[in-house]
Amino acid sequence: MLIPECRGAARLRDAIAASAFRGIACDAFLFQIQKDMDVMNHQENSERKIATEDFLRGLELPDSPKAAPRKIEYAVSHEEWLKQDLFERLSRSNFRMRFHLRAADKAYIKEHGMDLIRQHAADIIRKRLAPAEPLHDGKQTPMRGAPHGHPVFLAQHATATCCRGCLEKWHGIPQGRAMTKEEQERVTDVIMEWIRREMVQ
Ligand SMILES: [Zn+2]
Repeated sequence: MLIPECRGAARLRDAIAASAFRGIACDAFLFQIQKDMDVMNHQENSERKIATEDFLRGLELPDSPKAAPRKIEYAVSHEEWLKQDLFERLSRSNFRMRFHLRAADKAYIKEHGMDLIRQHAADIIRKRLAPAEPLHDGKQTPMRGAPHGHPVFLAQHATATCCRGCLEKWHGIPQGRAMTKEEQERVTDVIMEWIRREMVQ
C-alpha cells in the first residue's frame, strides 16, 4: 500500500484524526489537505498522487463549506461573534494567519498602485463571489499570490472572503443570493485594509 509510505498523507491522516477527535473547525485540515495535494501534484510519481486522491475521497471530506456545514464551536452565539472586530477574530485563526504577502506580491502592488489593486479586488469579488451561485464555490480562490496568482487571492484567504461559505461564517453574508453592492464594497474594503496592513510590515 502506498499511503503509509507517503509522509504527506501520513501527516494529513494524523491531522484529520486529531481534529476529528477534538471536534474542532476543519479550516485547518482543509488547508493541510490542499497543501498536501499541492505537494503531491508537483511530484512526478502519478501513482502516488492517485493513491492520495483515493485516500482523501475515502474520508468523505467536504470539498466546499457548502457541501458539508463545518463544525464550529462558538463561545458566544454566531451573531455576537460577528459583532467582534473582524481582524481580532481573524488573528485567532491559525489558518487565516498563515497567509502573508511575499516580496513578489508587494512588488506587484507597488508597481500597479493601491487604486488599481482595489479595482482588481472589486472585479474579483463581483465575478467570483457576488453571484447567487458562484462558479466552483469553495474552490474559486487560488492559494497563490504574484506572479502566478494575485495578491488579492492571498488577502481573500487571510480575511475569509474567499468563498460564500466563508463570507457567511465570517462576515454574516448569507449564501444562495447575490451579494448587494454594499456588501461587495464592504468586502473589498476588508481586503484592501488587510493589504494595507501587510504592506507596512
Ligand atoms: Zn472560503
